[in-house]
Amino acid sequence: MGGAMKVLSNARVIDGTGAAPLKNATIVIRGDRIDSIATRSQADFPADADIVDCAGMTVLPGLIDCHDHMANHGYDLAHRWGIDEPESTRHLRTAAVLRQTLEAGYTMIRDAGGLDAGFKRAIDEGLAVGPRLMLSISIVSPIGGIGDRMAPSGDCCCLPGDPLLPSGVVETLADVRPVVRKMVRAGADFIKCATTGGASSRPGHGPRDGAFNLDEMQALVEEAHALDRRVMCHALGGRGLDIAIAAGVDSIEHGCYLDEDPRHLDMMAARGIVFVPTLLVYEYHRKSPQPHVRERAHHLYQHHVLAIQKALKAGVKIVAGTDAGGHGHPANAGELVCLVEAGLTPMQAIQAATSWAAECCGKEAELGTVEKGKLADLVVVSGDPLADIGMLREPANIRLVLKGGEAVARSAPLRQNIAL
Ligand SMILES: [Zn+2]
Repeated sequence: MGGAMKVLSNARVIDGTGAAPLKNATIVIRGDRIDSIATRSQADFPADADIVDCAGMTVLPGLIDCHDHMANHGYDLAHRWGIDEPESTRHLRTAAVLRQTLEAGYTMIRDAGGLDAGFKRAIDEGLAVGPRLMLSISIVSPIGGIGDRMAPSGDCCCLPGDPLLPSGVVETLADVRPVVRKMVRAGADFIKCATTGGASSRPGHGPRDGAFNLDEMQALVEEAHALDRRVMCHALGGRGLDIAIAAGVDSIEHGCYLDEDPRHLDMMAARGIVFVPTLLVYEYHRKSPQPHVRERAHHLYQHHVLAIQKALKAGVKIVAGTDAGGHGHPANAGELVCLVEAGLTPMQAIQAATSWAAECCGKEAELGTVEKGKLADLVVVSGDPLADIGMLREPANIRLVLKGGEAVARSAPLRQNIAL
Protein backbone atom coordinates (compact mmCIF):
# COMPACT_ATOMS: atom_id res chain seq x y z
CA MET A 1 0.00 0.00 0.00
CA GLY A 2 3.08 2.23 0.28
CA GLY A 3 2.67 3.47 -3.29
CA ALA A 4 -0.74 4.93 -2.44
CA MET A 5 0.80 7.01 0.29
CA LYS A 6 2.09 10.54 -0.17
CA VAL A 7 4.02 12.54 2.36
CA LEU A 8 4.58 16.28 2.45
CA SER A 9 7.55 16.80 4.76
CA ASN A 10 9.22 19.87 6.36
CA ALA A 11 6.10 21.86 5.61
CA ARG A 12 4.89 25.09 7.08
CA VAL A 13 1.13 24.57 7.31
CA ILE A 14 -1.62 27.17 7.33
CA ASP A 15 -4.51 24.86 8.12
CA GLY A 16 -7.38 27.19 7.19
CA THR A 17 -8.88 27.38 10.69
CA GLY A 18 -7.17 30.68 11.48
CA ALA A 19 -4.68 28.99 13.84
CA ALA A 20 -1.04 30.08 13.76
CA PRO A 21 1.01 28.22 11.12
CA LEU A 22 2.50 24.87 12.05
CA LYS A 23 6.24 24.53 11.47
CA ASN A 24 8.19 21.50 10.27
CA ALA A 25 5.07 19.44 9.84
CA THR A 26 4.65 16.15 8.04
CA ILE A 27 1.35 15.52 6.31
CA VAL A 28 0.67 11.89 5.44
CA ILE A 29 -1.91 11.29 2.69
CA ARG A 30 -3.42 7.87 2.18
CA GLY A 31 -5.52 7.52 -0.97
CA ASP A 32 -7.69 10.65 -1.25
CA ARG A 33 -7.58 11.67 2.41
CA ILE A 34 -5.30 13.22 4.99
CA ASP A 35 -4.16 10.37 7.21
CA SER A 36 -2.16 12.37 9.75
CA ILE A 37 -0.41 15.64 10.45
CA ALA A 38 2.50 15.61 12.87
CA THR A 39 5.67 17.45 13.71
CA ARG A 40 8.61 15.72 12.09
CA SER A 41 9.79 13.67 15.05
CA GLN A 42 6.37 12.04 15.50
CA ALA A 43 5.71 11.23 11.86
CA ASP A 44 5.28 7.62 10.94
CA PHE A 45 5.10 6.45 7.33
CA PRO A 46 6.55 3.65 5.21
CA ALA A 47 9.93 4.19 3.58
CA ASP A 48 8.52 3.66 0.07
CA ALA A 49 5.95 6.47 0.38
CA ASP A 50 6.06 9.21 -2.23
CA ILE A 51 7.81 12.01 -0.28
CA VAL A 52 7.71 15.67 -1.29
CA ASP A 53 10.18 17.88 0.58
CA CYS A 54 8.35 21.16 1.29
CA ALA A 55 11.25 23.00 2.96
CA GLY A 56 10.75 26.75 2.49
CA MET A 57 7.20 26.24 1.28
CA THR A 58 3.74 26.65 2.77
CA VAL A 59 0.91 24.13 2.55
CA LEU A 60 -2.64 25.48 2.48
CA PRO A 61 -6.03 23.85 2.03
CA GLY A 62 -7.08 23.84 -1.63
CA LEU A 63 -8.50 27.28 -2.36
CA ILE A 64 -12.20 27.83 -3.04
CA ASP A 65 -13.87 30.57 -5.09
CA CYS A 66 -17.54 30.85 -4.14
CA HIS A 67 -18.65 33.11 -6.98
CA ASP A 68 -17.31 32.43 -10.45
CA HIS A 69 -18.81 32.11 -13.91
CA MET A 70 -16.50 29.55 -15.48
CA ALA A 71 -18.35 29.39 -18.81
CA ASN A 72 -18.44 33.17 -19.36
CA HIS A 73 -15.63 34.83 -21.25
CA GLY A 74 -16.61 38.51 -21.53
CA TYR A 75 -19.46 40.98 -21.05
CA ASP A 76 -19.94 41.54 -24.76
CA LEU A 77 -23.60 41.01 -25.72
CA ALA A 78 -22.82 38.80 -28.73
CA HIS A 79 -20.81 36.60 -26.41
CA ARG A 80 -23.45 36.54 -23.71
CA TRP A 81 -26.04 35.51 -26.29
CA GLY A 82 -23.70 32.83 -27.60
CA ILE A 83 -23.38 34.06 -31.19
CA ASP A 84 -19.73 35.12 -31.36
CA GLU A 85 -18.13 31.70 -31.78
CA PRO A 86 -19.10 28.05 -32.24
CA GLU A 87 -20.45 26.31 -29.15
CA SER A 88 -17.68 23.72 -29.39
CA THR A 89 -14.97 26.40 -29.31
CA ARG A 90 -16.63 28.02 -26.34
CA HIS A 91 -16.86 24.73 -24.45
CA LEU A 92 -13.17 24.02 -25.06
CA ARG A 93 -12.38 27.55 -23.88
CA THR A 94 -14.31 26.82 -20.70
CA ALA A 95 -12.44 23.52 -20.28
CA ALA A 96 -9.12 25.40 -20.53
CA VAL A 97 -10.27 27.84 -17.85
CA LEU A 98 -11.32 24.96 -15.58
CA ARG A 99 -7.88 23.41 -15.92
CA GLN A 100 -6.04 26.70 -15.45
CA THR A 101 -8.09 27.43 -12.32
CA LEU A 102 -7.23 24.08 -10.74
CA GLU A 103 -3.54 24.52 -11.61
CA ALA A 104 -3.66 27.88 -9.81
CA GLY A 105 -4.54 26.09 -6.56
CA TYR A 106 -8.34 26.39 -6.70
CA THR A 107 -9.67 22.92 -5.97
CA MET A 108 -13.35 23.91 -5.69
CA ILE A 109 -15.46 26.48 -7.50
CA ARG A 110 -19.03 27.49 -6.83
CA ASP A 111 -20.35 28.58 -10.19
CA ALA A 112 -22.82 31.47 -10.00
CA GLY A 113 -24.50 30.76 -13.34
CA GLY A 114 -23.77 29.67 -16.89
CA LEU A 115 -21.83 26.45 -16.37
CA ASP A 116 -23.85 23.37 -17.31
CA ALA A 117 -23.74 19.99 -15.58
CA GLY A 118 -21.86 18.39 -18.50
CA PHE A 119 -18.60 19.93 -17.29
CA LYS A 120 -18.96 18.34 -13.87
CA ARG A 121 -19.65 14.99 -15.51
CA ALA A 122 -16.65 15.38 -17.82
CA ILE A 123 -14.36 16.10 -14.85
CA ASP A 124 -15.79 13.12 -12.92
CA GLU A 125 -15.17 10.86 -15.94
CA GLY A 126 -11.64 12.18 -16.45
CA LEU A 127 -12.48 13.70 -19.85
CA ALA A 128 -11.50 17.11 -18.53
CA VAL A 129 -9.34 18.39 -15.68
CA GLY A 130 -10.79 20.88 -13.26
CA PRO A 131 -11.81 21.78 -9.72
CA ARG A 132 -14.68 20.23 -7.80
CA LEU A 133 -17.78 22.07 -8.95
CA MET A 134 -20.84 23.37 -7.18
CA LEU A 135 -23.32 24.46 -9.84
CA SER A 136 -26.23 26.87 -9.97
CA ILE A 137 -27.00 26.42 -13.74
CA SER A 138 -29.00 29.60 -14.63
CA ILE A 139 -29.74 32.77 -12.66
CA VAL A 140 -33.36 32.92 -11.47
CA SER A 141 -34.92 36.39 -11.73
CA PRO A 142 -38.24 38.00 -12.77
CA ILE A 143 -38.92 39.56 -16.16
CA GLY A 144 -36.33 42.30 -16.70
CA GLY A 145 -34.03 40.91 -13.99
CA ILE A 146 -30.40 39.98 -14.61
CA GLY A 147 -31.39 36.44 -15.65
CA ASP A 148 -33.55 37.82 -18.47
CA ARG A 149 -31.61 37.99 -21.75
CA MET A 150 -32.54 41.50 -22.79
CA ALA A 151 -30.47 44.04 -24.69
CA PRO A 152 -30.31 47.77 -23.88
CA SER A 153 -32.23 48.28 -27.16
CA GLY A 154 -35.16 46.36 -25.68
CA ASP A 155 -34.62 43.30 -27.84
CA CYS A 156 -34.80 39.93 -26.14
CA CYS A 157 -32.48 37.17 -27.20
CA CYS A 158 -33.98 35.53 -30.28
CA LEU A 159 -31.97 32.31 -30.04
CA PRO A 160 -33.21 29.01 -28.70
CA GLY A 161 -31.93 28.32 -25.21
CA ASP A 162 -29.50 25.57 -24.32
CA PRO A 163 -31.49 22.66 -22.81
CA LEU A 164 -28.73 22.21 -20.24
CA LEU A 165 -29.25 25.82 -19.10
CA PRO A 166 -33.03 26.21 -18.67
CA SER A 167 -34.42 29.73 -18.54
CA GLY A 168 -34.43 31.25 -15.07
CA VAL A 169 -37.03 33.89 -15.94
CA VAL A 170 -40.01 33.89 -13.59
CA GLU A 171 -43.16 35.55 -14.92
CA THR A 172 -45.51 35.21 -11.94
CA LEU A 173 -45.49 33.88 -8.37
CA ALA A 174 -46.82 30.55 -9.68
CA ASP A 175 -43.67 30.12 -11.82
CA VAL A 176 -41.22 30.36 -8.94
CA ARG A 177 -41.36 26.78 -7.71
CA PRO A 178 -41.31 25.14 -11.18
CA VAL A 179 -38.29 27.24 -12.17
CA VAL A 180 -36.44 26.17 -9.00
CA ARG A 181 -37.31 22.54 -9.76
CA LYS A 182 -36.07 22.91 -13.34
CA MET A 183 -32.70 24.16 -12.08
CA VAL A 184 -32.43 21.20 -9.75
CA ARG A 185 -33.43 18.86 -12.59
CA ALA A 186 -30.64 20.35 -14.73
CA GLY A 187 -28.09 19.70 -11.98
CA ALA A 188 -28.12 22.75 -9.68
CA ASP A 189 -26.42 22.26 -6.32
CA PHE A 190 -27.43 25.83 -5.39
CA ILE A 191 -30.21 28.14 -6.50
CA LYS A 192 -28.77 31.43 -7.76
CA CYS A 193 -31.24 34.29 -7.88
CA ALA A 194 -31.16 38.07 -8.11
CA THR A 195 -33.28 40.63 -6.27
CA THR A 196 -31.56 43.75 -7.68
CA GLY A 197 -29.74 44.92 -10.76
CA GLY A 198 -25.96 45.29 -10.69
CA ALA A 199 -23.13 47.49 -11.84
CA SER A 200 -22.99 45.90 -15.30
CA SER A 201 -26.72 45.40 -15.89
CA ARG A 202 -28.58 47.47 -18.46
CA PRO A 203 -29.36 51.15 -17.80
CA GLY A 204 -32.52 51.41 -15.71
CA HIS A 205 -31.76 48.25 -13.72
CA GLY A 206 -29.04 49.34 -11.33
CA PRO A 207 -27.75 48.28 -7.92
CA ARG A 208 -30.76 49.64 -6.00
CA ASP A 209 -33.44 48.68 -8.50
CA GLY A 210 -35.47 45.77 -7.26
CA ALA A 211 -36.46 42.45 -8.83
CA PHE A 212 -38.80 39.96 -7.11
CA ASN A 213 -41.26 40.78 -4.36
CA LEU A 214 -41.21 39.21 -0.90
CA ASP A 215 -43.86 36.58 -1.72
CA GLU A 216 -41.85 35.37 -4.70
CA MET A 217 -38.59 35.24 -2.74
CA GLN A 218 -40.20 33.40 0.16
CA ALA A 219 -41.55 30.80 -2.29
CA LEU A 220 -38.12 30.52 -3.92
CA VAL A 221 -36.26 30.02 -0.64
CA GLU A 222 -38.87 27.58 0.68
CA GLU A 223 -38.77 25.46 -2.48
CA ALA A 224 -34.98 25.47 -2.69
CA HIS A 225 -34.66 24.44 0.94
CA ALA A 226 -37.31 21.74 0.47
CA LEU A 227 -35.00 20.31 -2.20
CA ASP A 228 -31.94 20.69 0.09
CA ARG A 229 -30.47 23.47 -2.02
CA ARG A 230 -29.05 26.65 -0.55
CA VAL A 231 -29.89 30.01 -2.09
CA MET A 232 -27.18 32.41 -3.23
CA CYS A 233 -28.69 35.79 -3.96
CA HIS A 234 -27.26 38.61 -6.04
CA ALA A 235 -28.36 41.71 -4.08
CA LEU A 236 -26.58 45.05 -3.99
CA GLY A 237 -28.85 47.51 -2.21
CA GLY A 238 -32.24 49.10 -1.72
CA ARG A 239 -35.50 47.19 -1.33
CA GLY A 240 -34.18 44.09 -3.14
CA LEU A 241 -31.43 43.65 -0.55
CA ASP A 242 -34.00 43.98 2.21
CA ILE A 243 -36.29 41.37 0.61
CA ALA A 244 -33.45 38.87 0.11
CA ILE A 245 -32.44 38.99 3.77
CA ALA A 246 -36.04 38.94 4.99
CA ALA A 247 -36.78 35.89 2.82
CA GLY A 248 -33.85 34.04 4.43
CA VAL A 249 -31.44 33.42 1.56
CA ASP A 250 -28.20 31.66 2.57
CA SER A 251 -25.71 34.10 1.08
CA ILE A 252 -25.73 37.67 -0.14
CA GLU A 253 -23.61 38.06 -3.26
CA HIS A 254 -22.04 41.51 -3.81
CA GLY A 255 -23.94 43.24 -0.94
CA CYS A 256 -22.36 46.60 -1.81
CA TYR A 257 -24.80 48.69 0.24
CA LEU A 258 -24.91 46.48 3.34
CA ASP A 259 -23.35 49.42 5.22
CA GLU A 260 -26.56 51.45 4.96
CA ASP A 261 -29.07 49.70 7.23
CA PRO A 262 -27.57 48.19 10.41
CA ARG A 263 -30.50 45.75 10.67
CA HIS A 264 -29.26 43.95 7.56
CA LEU A 265 -25.91 42.80 8.95
CA ASP A 266 -27.47 42.02 12.36
CA MET A 267 -30.06 39.79 10.70
CA MET A 268 -27.37 38.13 8.58
CA ALA A 269 -25.28 37.41 11.68
CA ALA A 270 -28.28 36.03 13.57
CA ARG A 271 -29.36 33.77 10.68
CA GLY A 272 -25.87 32.71 9.59
CA ILE A 273 -26.22 34.35 6.16
CA VAL A 274 -22.76 34.75 4.62
CA PHE A 275 -21.45 37.71 2.63
CA VAL A 276 -19.64 37.15 -0.68
CA PRO A 277 -18.57 40.69 -1.66
CA THR A 278 -16.78 39.88 -4.97
CA LEU A 279 -14.53 42.95 -4.88
CA LEU A 280 -12.45 42.01 -7.90
CA VAL A 281 -15.25 42.54 -10.41
CA TYR A 282 -15.89 46.10 -9.19
CA GLU A 283 -12.22 46.95 -9.61
CA TYR A 284 -12.81 46.02 -13.26
CA HIS A 285 -16.11 47.90 -13.50
CA ARG A 286 -14.50 51.10 -12.19
CA LYS A 287 -12.55 51.14 -15.48
CA SER A 288 -15.50 50.12 -17.68
CA PRO A 289 -15.83 51.82 -21.08
CA GLN A 290 -19.58 52.10 -20.41
CA PRO A 291 -20.30 55.32 -18.47
CA HIS A 292 -23.30 53.97 -16.53
CA VAL A 293 -21.29 50.97 -15.35
CA ARG A 294 -18.27 53.09 -14.37
CA GLU A 295 -20.45 55.54 -12.46
CA ARG A 296 -22.25 52.80 -10.53
CA ALA A 297 -18.95 51.11 -9.62
CA HIS A 298 -17.41 54.36 -8.38
CA HIS A 299 -20.49 55.19 -6.33
CA LEU A 300 -20.63 51.86 -4.55
CA TYR A 301 -16.93 51.43 -3.77
CA GLN A 302 -16.71 53.25 -0.41
CA HIS A 303 -19.99 51.66 0.69
CA HIS A 304 -18.67 48.22 -0.21
CA VAL A 305 -15.47 48.61 1.84
CA LEU A 306 -17.48 49.94 4.79
CA ALA A 307 -19.95 47.04 4.42
CA ILE A 308 -17.07 44.56 4.76
CA GLN A 309 -15.66 46.28 7.83
CA LYS A 310 -19.09 46.44 9.50
CA ALA A 311 -19.76 42.80 8.56
CA LEU A 312 -16.54 41.71 10.31
CA LYS A 313 -17.63 43.61 13.44
CA ALA A 314 -21.16 42.19 13.28
CA GLY A 315 -19.81 38.62 13.04
CA VAL A 316 -20.98 37.95 9.49
CA LYS A 317 -18.74 35.47 7.65
CA ILE A 318 -17.05 36.87 4.57
CA VAL A 319 -16.34 34.48 1.73
CA ALA A 320 -14.08 34.95 -1.30
CA GLY A 321 -15.59 35.11 -4.76
CA THR A 322 -14.27 36.85 -7.86
CA ASP A 323 -17.36 37.02 -10.12
CA ALA A 324 -14.89 36.10 -12.86
CA GLY A 325 -16.10 35.34 -16.37
CA GLY A 326 -17.48 38.66 -17.56
CA HIS A 327 -14.17 40.30 -16.67
CA GLY A 328 -12.23 37.35 -18.04
CA HIS A 329 -10.47 34.83 -15.84
CA PRO A 330 -7.69 36.60 -13.96
CA ALA A 331 -6.00 34.83 -11.02
CA ASN A 332 -8.77 34.05 -8.54
CA ALA A 333 -6.44 34.92 -5.64
CA GLY A 334 -6.69 38.56 -6.73
CA GLU A 335 -9.83 38.63 -4.59
CA LEU A 336 -7.74 37.89 -1.49
CA VAL A 337 -5.62 40.97 -2.20
CA CYS A 338 -8.82 43.07 -2.46
CA LEU A 339 -10.15 41.60 0.80
CA VAL A 340 -6.94 42.53 2.62
CA GLU A 341 -7.12 46.05 1.16
CA ALA A 342 -10.69 46.26 2.48
CA GLY A 343 -9.64 45.38 6.04
CA LEU A 344 -9.33 41.60 6.43
CA THR A 345 -6.06 40.26 7.83
CA PRO A 346 -4.15 37.99 5.42
CA MET A 347 -5.17 35.07 7.67
CA GLN A 348 -8.85 36.06 7.44
CA ALA A 349 -8.53 36.36 3.66
CA ILE A 350 -7.17 32.79 3.56
CA GLN A 351 -10.05 31.61 5.76
CA ALA A 352 -12.47 33.38 3.39
CA ALA A 353 -11.13 31.18 0.58
CA THR A 354 -10.82 27.94 2.60
CA SER A 355 -12.77 27.06 5.76
CA TRP A 356 -15.39 29.82 5.49
CA ALA A 357 -15.85 29.07 1.79
CA ALA A 358 -16.27 25.34 2.52
CA GLU A 359 -18.96 26.22 5.09
CA CYS A 360 -20.66 28.42 2.51
CA CYS A 361 -20.80 25.37 0.21
CA GLY A 362 -21.95 23.01 3.00
CA LYS A 363 -18.73 21.01 2.52
CA GLU A 364 -16.98 21.80 5.80
CA ALA A 365 -17.01 18.15 6.92
CA GLU A 366 -14.84 17.18 3.93
CA LEU A 367 -12.97 20.26 2.75
CA GLY A 368 -11.61 23.68 3.67
CA THR A 369 -9.02 22.81 6.32
CA VAL A 370 -5.89 20.69 6.60
CA GLU A 371 -7.17 18.14 9.10
CA LYS A 372 -6.91 14.41 9.65
CA GLY A 373 -9.71 12.59 7.83
CA LYS A 374 -10.51 15.37 5.36
CA LEU A 375 -10.09 15.09 1.61
CA ALA A 376 -6.50 15.83 0.59
CA ASP A 377 -7.18 18.98 -1.44
CA LEU A 378 -3.97 20.88 -0.80
CA VAL A 379 -1.84 23.56 -2.39
CA VAL A 380 1.89 23.93 -1.81
CA VAL A 381 3.26 27.43 -2.43
CA SER A 382 6.73 28.90 -2.27
CA GLY A 383 7.18 31.53 0.42
CA ASP A 384 4.72 32.95 2.90
CA PRO A 385 1.27 34.18 1.85
CA LEU A 386 0.77 35.78 5.28
CA ALA A 387 3.66 38.14 4.51
CA ASP A 388 2.51 38.79 0.93
CA ILE A 389 -1.00 37.62 0.07
CA GLY A 390 -0.49 38.75 -3.54
CA MET A 391 2.07 36.00 -4.13
CA LEU A 392 -0.84 33.55 -4.47
CA ARG A 393 -1.72 35.20 -7.80
CA GLU A 394 1.58 34.20 -9.43
CA PRO A 395 1.54 30.80 -11.19
CA ALA A 396 5.28 30.40 -10.53
CA ASN A 397 4.61 30.36 -6.77
CA ILE A 398 2.10 27.50 -6.99
CA ARG A 399 4.41 24.52 -6.67
CA LEU A 400 2.04 21.60 -6.23
CA VAL A 401 -1.73 21.15 -6.26
CA LEU A 402 -3.37 18.02 -4.89
CA LYS A 403 -7.03 17.26 -5.48
CA GLY A 404 -8.23 14.25 -3.54
CA GLY A 405 -4.60 13.28 -2.96
CA GLU A 406 -3.73 13.32 -6.66
CA ALA A 407 -1.14 15.71 -8.02
CA VAL A 408 -2.40 17.96 -10.79
CA ALA A 409 -0.06 17.87 -13.78
CA ARG A 410 0.73 21.24 -15.25
CA SER A 411 -0.40 21.73 -18.86
CA ALA A 412 1.42 23.49 -21.67
CA PRO A 413 0.70 27.22 -21.91
CA LEU A 414 -2.00 28.23 -24.39
CA ARG A 415 -1.12 30.05 -27.56
CA GLN A 416 -3.48 32.84 -26.67
CA ASN A 417 -3.97 33.98 -23.13
CA ILE A 418 -7.52 33.07 -22.20
CA ALA A 419 -7.28 35.26 -19.10
CA LEU A 420 -8.15 38.24 -21.39
ZN1 LIG B 1 -21.92 36.81 -10.75
